[in-house]
Amino acid sequence: MRVAIIGAGVAGLASARRCLENDFEPIVYERSKGVGGTWVYDERTGIDEFGLPIHTSMYQNLMTNLPKELMDFPDFPYTGLDNVSYLKSCQVQEYIEQFAEHFGLNKHIRFCSLVTSVEKLTNNWEVTVEDLKTKTSKTEYYNAVMVCNGHNALPFTPDIPGNNDFDGIQIHSHSYRIPEHFTNLNVLIIGSGPSGVDICSDVSKIANQVYFSHHKPELIEKDFPKNVIHKPDVEHFSKKSVSFKDKTEQTLDAIIYCTGYKITLPFLKPSCGINVLNDKLITPLYKNIINMNNPTMGFIGYLNLTFVFRIFDLQVRYYLEFLRKNSSSRLDCMIKTMTPVSTHFLGENMLNYCKSLLLDKIKVEPIPPVYFEIYNGCHKLKDKYYRSYHSSVVRIIDNDDYVMEFDAEN
Ligand code: FAD
Repeated sequence: MRVAIIGAGVAGLASARRCLENDFEPIVYERSKGVGGTWVYDERTGIDEFGLPIHTSMYQNLMTNLPKELMDFPDFPYTGLDNVSYLKSCQVQEYIEQFAEHFGLNKHIRFCSLVTSVEKLTNNWEVTVEDLKTKTSKTEYYNAVMVCNGHNALPFTPDIPGNNDFDGIQIHSHSYRIPEHFTNLNVLIIGSGPSGVDICSDVSKIANQVYFSHHKPELIEKDFPKNVIHKPDVEHFSKKSVSFKDKTEQTLDAIIYCTGYKITLPFLKPSCGINVLNDKLITPLYKNIINMNNPTMGFIGYLNLTFVFRIFDLQVRYYLEFLRKNSSSRLDCMIKTMTPVSTHFLGENMLNYCKSLLLDKIKVEPIPPVYFEIYNGCHKLKDKYYRSYHSSVVRIIDNDDYVMEFDAEN
C-alpha cells in the first residue's frame, strides 16, 4: 500500500516509522528543509524563504512542560541525559533528528515539498505537491493518506474592541521568540494556556510590568514573579492603554496574544469529505483518527492535553492495523457503526481514549500504565511548584512503577 504522509513533525515521523515496519510504502511530504515541525526553532517570524508563513511556534527559552520520559518514541530513549527530565527545545529537536536518522526515515521524505491539493478519486488518492525550490508541481497517486500537518501554526487572535487603535506592539505567541524585545516595557499577556503561563514568566524577567489577563482563579494563588499582575478579561483598548472588566485601566507598550490556534487543512478538497467546524473540530473523525467519509484517510496528531509522542505512535499503529485488516468493502460496512468525535481535547479522558483504541478488535500493543502515572504525577507537581517543577527528575522502574526526584527547598 502506497501511503502519502503530509508533514515530517512528530506525527509524520511516527507514521513513517510504523509504515516501514509494517510493509506499507510511505512517502512523506515536508514543506520545510528538515524534520521536527514545531520543534525547529527559527528566529524569523512572518514568512520564510519560499514566501510561506513560518510554521514553527517555538521560542528560544522554551523548557518542555513534560519530562523527556513522556516525550520519547517507543524503543528509542534519549541518550546522555540521565539526570535531567525537562529539556530545552533544541534537545528535543536533536532527539527527533536522531530518531529520523536511526529509523532511516530521511530517504522517504521529500523536503521543500508543499502539498497543495488532495483529491479522493474512485479507488485512490490524488496528491499534488509543489516543489518549493523549482516552483514546479507534480501529481502522484496513493492508496492511503495520513494527514500530519500539525495544529499549532495558524494563530487565533480574538477581536477585542479597540485593538486596531492600539499603537504599541501586538503579536501572537506564534511569533514570540525572545523576551529581549520587551525590555522595560509594560506588557499584556492574554490567555493562560501553557504558552500564556510560560511566556508570562519568560517576559517578566525583563519587562517592567506584566499584566496577565485570564480567568483561572487558581493561577492567582501561584507564586508568579512580583512584576506580574493578574487581571480579568480585557474590555477594550485605546491608543496607549487597556481597560479591564474590573474597571481598571493601565498604560501599555505591548500585547502578546496567547490565545491558541486554528485548525487549517487548505489542501483537502471537498472530495475528501472533511469539514473543519469553527476552525476547531475536524469532522467526521472516528477515534480522532479515521475519516469516516473516506477511511483510507487518517489524521494523526490532532489531540490536545496529552503526552504526544507515544499517543501519536499508538494512533499510527491503530490506523495501520485498521488499514491492514480491512478491505475496502469492509471499510464501508464498518463506517455504519462508527460515531464521530466531538472534541480533540483529551485531558482526563486520555486513558479511556487509549483503552478505546484497544477495544476495537484491532490488536495493538497498549502504552504501559507507568506513562499515565507519570503524566498525572507531573501535573500534580507542576500545579504545586509551577516555578521549580522543571528541576524534578523522573526515573522509570518498570512498566508499572516510577520514582520522581524533587527537592522542594530548591
Ligand atoms: P508539527 O510539529 O506542527 O509538524 C507538522 C509538519 O507538517 C511541519 O513540519 C510542517 O512544515 C508540515 N506541513 C504543514 N503543512 C504542510 C503541507 N501542506 N505540505 C507539506 N508539509 C506540511 N508537546 C510536548 O509533548 N511537550 C512540550 O513541552 C510541548 N511544548 C510545546 C510548545 C509549543 C510552543 C508548541 C506550539 C507545542 C508544544 N508541544 C509540546 C506540542 C507539540 O505540538 C507536539 O509535541 C508535536 O510536536 C506536534 O507534532 P505534529 O507532527 O503534530 O505537528
